[in-house]
Amino acid sequence: MIATMCLLLIDDDELDRTVVIRALEHSDLVFDIRQCATAAEGFKCLAKEHFDAVLLDYRLPDQDGIEVLHTLRSGAFENVAVVMLSRQDDPAIAESCLEAGAQDFLLKDEVNGRRLIRAICLARQRYSMEEALKASHEKLRVLSEHDILTGLINRRGFEVALNLSMDNAHREQRGLAVLLLDLDDFKSVNDTLGHSAGDELLIEIARRIRLIVRSGDFLCRLGGDEFVVIANRLERDEQASLLADRLISVLQDPIVLNSLELVITASVGIAVLGESTESASDLLKHADVAMYRAKQDGRNQYRFYSERLHAAVQHLTDLKRELHRALPNNEFVVYYQPQFSAVDESLCGMEALVRWRHPRMGLLTPGDFISVAEDTGLIVEIGNWVLQESCRQLSDWRGRFPLLKNTLTIAVNLSAVQLADKKLVDHVESALSQYQLPPQCLELEITESALIDDQRGAVTTLAELASRDVTLSLDDFGTGYSSMHHLKLFQIDVLKIDREFVSVVGSNTENDRLLVAMIRFAQALNLKIVAEGVESREQADFCRHHGCTVLQGYYYSKPLPPDELEATFLTGSDAHRESRLAC
Ligand code: C2E
Ligand code: CA
Ligand code: CA
Repeated sequence: MIATMCLLLIDDDELDRTVVIRALEHSDLVFDIRQCATAAEGFKCLAKEHFDAVLLDYRLPDQDGIEVLHTLRSGAFENVAVVMLSRQDDPAIAESCLEAGAQDFLLKDEVNGRRLIRAICLARQRYSMEEALKASHEKLRVLSEHDILTGLINRRGFEVALNLSMDNAHREQRGLAVLLLDLDDFKSVNDTLGHSAGDELLIEIARRIRLIVRSGDFLCRLGGDEFVVIANRLERDEQASLLADRLISVLQDPIVLNSLELVITASVGIAVLGESTESASDLLKHADVAMYRAKQDGRNQYRFYSERLHAAVQHLTDLKRELHRALPNNEFVVYYQPQFSAVDESLCGMEALVRWRHPRMGLLTPGDFISVAEDTGLIVEIGNWVLQESCRQLSDWRGRFPLLKNTLTIAVNLSAVQLADKKLVDHVESALSQYQLPPQCLELEITESALIDDQRGAVTTLAELASRDVTLSLDDFGTGYSSMHHLKLFQIDVLKIDREFVSVVGSNTENDRLLVAMIRFAQALNLKIVAEGVESREQADFCRHHGCTVLQGYYYSKPLPPDELEATFLTGSDAHRESRLAC
């Protein structure tokens, strides 16, 4: 049985319509033809009924054929194959009709049954091929905008989704937030359990987050362990924080991987679309800044983006960049803080404390840049420079003030990052030999946290240093978690009691008792005891009376540039000693 083909014939010329209808009458196919005289009538029919093809006159009273085609292809109507009919034998018109979406073009003068039917059938075929092509393009687009592992929208799709969401938010005057979620320590899962376990984890995370994302919001995986939720139609900013809370807590149930139970946490940065027209990339950047802050503040939490936060992050970025140039530009200097023997208050050593002569910000103390130097790894180079420069300075002073030669020591601070550097021992040895210094006059100060952070690396390095007769000193004692076991393991020779305990002497009996107990503890282990942060006579007397060996602090002197230290303490002290020896 031959199926009926439904046609819509739009032509204002009745005679032309009759010619078409006649031409189709003598065919094996059965046609059901609806006739319209204007474009407007045609659109009405298309809105109501389904047609297999449209026969469209190029010249209509209300619109020309190209306009009609544009409306047809705009998506306002169900799409359908179109054969254009025209009286004008103009190839340019034919071409523009095909470009505008017609599948065929036929001159009215040439209309006959065979030609017309062939044109309709071909148009329908072309049309369905074009549709199939469009569908496969669409499929490819969807694929290219989705992440294969989790099935979530990928970075490319995210950009499309965010632009769409921002347009909607502006149009509807509703709020929008971007929540950027980054797993804490995902790298260690990958490193310790392998990449396929890492993949499994990401799939599970995606599954959990999907459960709490509202319909109308978008959930995307930007890559690695970074996920983004675009939260649409927000009434208040608090809704974004509630969502962030849920994102964090939905991850907290343990996840089993390779029969191990893991507890995964994440940090979330939130950026809310503001009054000013921010771009999509700005919004993501802001969420990133906030996420970074959440990490810095201890992870497993969320932070909102703010201008202040932006300034802080900008400052840090600038500092990192400038820190790279600081060493080649000779911007570091070493200040020295003198240390005095508790017995006779004579100068017995000094601590080298680095400063950065920043071209814009002036003299910076370590608190302003050491952590950045540690994060970037630059601390290794900076620390080596400090070591080298301090040894050079000590050697110079030993040469020029021979009477101090056997008493003067130099203490150099080492970061935990330096302890992990395999070349540290070589650097220390070469600095000592280059300036012909006996190892005993060099004290290397390490903090308790450095011992705990990287015990394995530190044990070997410190043992090698100790075997070369360098003095090892435990800095900021009392503020960390080192145990007697650590003191033995790391062959510590000196304990520096943190100024937190020294600077409150006399005002807090609890503290005073604790300080005395620490001194006793160090004495029992036969360690040299340095009290740091001595700020008054009373504190100095207390520390000396209870058995500290060395005193250091503002009471005696602040850290000084080498020339000032020399003028104030060395020249005087040498002369003083000489005169004492002469007596
Ligand atoms: P630190 O090793 O505990 O050094 C003592 C700090 O306390 C110095 O601060 C010093 O100026 C300050 N200080 C000394 N006496 C007093 C006092 O009586 N009262 C008070 N309130 N403070 C006093 P600075 O120079 O700012 O150094 C801070 C920290 O930076 C040092 O603490 C040390 O941990 C680190 N640092 C300094 N230079 C270097 C370096 O070359 N490498 C590494 N890795 N760290 C360094
Ligand atoms: Ca120190
Ligand atoms: Ca200290």
